[in-house]
Amino acid sequence: MADALAVVGKIVEIGKTLRGVAELVKDAKTKSLIADLNLAISDLKMQIVDLRDENLALKDKLKRGAAEKDLASALELKEVAYWFKVAPGDRPPGPYCTGCFDAGRKLSLLRPLPETFRAFGTHECPVCKATYGAGEF
Ligand SMILES: [Zn+2]
Repeated sequence: MADALAVVGKIVEIGKTLRGVAELVKDAKTKSLIADLNLAISDLKMQIVDLRDENLALKDKLKRGAAEKDLASALELKEVAYWFKVAPGDRPPGPYCTGCFDAGRKLSLLRPLPETFRAFGTHECPVCKATYGAGEF
């Protein structure tokens, strides 16, 4: 498929040729129509640029959605936290906060709580501060 802006450029060139012909035949009506055509082409160019921007944003959104779906399918719920089904090489296999992932697709690695805070649980999410109980891992 030809680039839309290249097609518009070709239309502009045709318009210039038509304007030259209209000058030769001294046709005011044709000149006026060509001026209207140039205005419409300018509007079209702006719409194409807007559509390109929107298309890029949507492609990016789709890409992020697919990555999130892949990530979700790579995780499994064990007890109360998410773990990778297969340990990835670039991060720990788990446990990850279910609240952070379910709400915002964010992987927050739970950290063990110090002994003095074990009354609240064994692990804590460093992002949302949720605590996870004893014996769950
Ligand atoms: Zn969290």
